[in-house]
Amino acid sequence: MVNTVTGPLSSAELGRTLIHEHVLIGFPGWFMDARQPAFKREEAIERVVDAFQELHGHGVRTVIDPCPMDLGRDVEFCAEVSRKSRINLICATGAYVESMGIPWTFKALPVEAITEAFVKEIEQGVADTGIRCGVIKIATGDGEVSEYERKVLTAAAHAAKLTGVPLISHTENCSCGQDQIDIATGVGLRASSLIVGHSDGRDDPAYQKALADRGSYVGFDRFGLEQIVPDSVRTKNLKALVDAGHRDRVMVSHDTVNCWQGALGNSDPAEMQKALPNWRMTHLFEHIFPELKRMGMSQEDLDHIVIDNPRRYFDEAASA
Ligand SMILES: [Zn+2]
Repeated sequence: MVNTVTGPLSSAELGRTLIHEHVLIGFPGWFMDARQPAFKREEAIERVVDAFQELHGHGVRTVIDPCPMDLGRDVEFCAEVSRKSRINLICATGAYVESMGIPWTFKALPVEAITEAFVKEIEQGVADTGIRCGVIKIATGDGEVSEYERKVLTAAAHAAKLTGVPLISHTENCSCGQDQIDIATGVGLRASSLIVGHSDGRDDPAYQKALADRGSYVGFDRFGLEQIVPDSVRTKNLKALVDAGHRDRVMVSHDTVNCWQGALGNSDPAEMQKALPNWRMTHLFEHIFPELKRMGMSQEDLDHIVIDNPRRYFDEAASA
């Protein structure tokens, strides 16, 4: 069984799954930019429901929202979107990268206490909502794992081991994926209990293959975010990984943000969306999958990646 925001669900019922899309986000201190318009929750929910209903039209039945505790997470917002759009949503416990998160409290707590906090959100739910988390988010910065991040990752790995819930990560610039696997396997998890997120962030097929060789899932999870890497590079490297025998290790998504609380620092999210017309949850189905088929992949390959891989990711973690 997998924890969704509306209750436990059999992994066989997950169906077509996108593994990394954000229902809503608020960067730490977003409310401090008092020039921004007030956040209108009901309007925001309606807008997000529209986007998820469109996704439902493409046969998607489940979305993982890996928003960590410190990025404006709102699991009741997610539950309302899930009920109205009929898409299963899986929310996360866990913490973001030190440079963009809220590290003060976990810096003060020992590993054991952080582990207990994560386990509490998985077994009993977030605060008193009864909404239980189905994944644990971990995150590392560019080039090296900070002392804080190492502590939080270690706590997350222990919580994963205790609960059978898998890990999903944030990385920067295709770095530290190996460190994440080392920390996870170091506490006795299988490498397959981890999706190394944002592994499509650079034209680096050797890095991607090395993660797959160890048995972790490789996140090609930023399709449409072409100011980081063109999608043509993502499709080329995804196809190369499949051709190398790693179809079982590929995960796909867009890392869209369907609703912003406040702005993104000094950037205007609406302007950003305008500059990235393909950064939408339906982009894979409208453009990328047809392109991958032209490159020689079959519908069976694509179904395997969006249905079988997510199901196996939860099943193997639960049975470890
Ligand atoms: Zn993300």
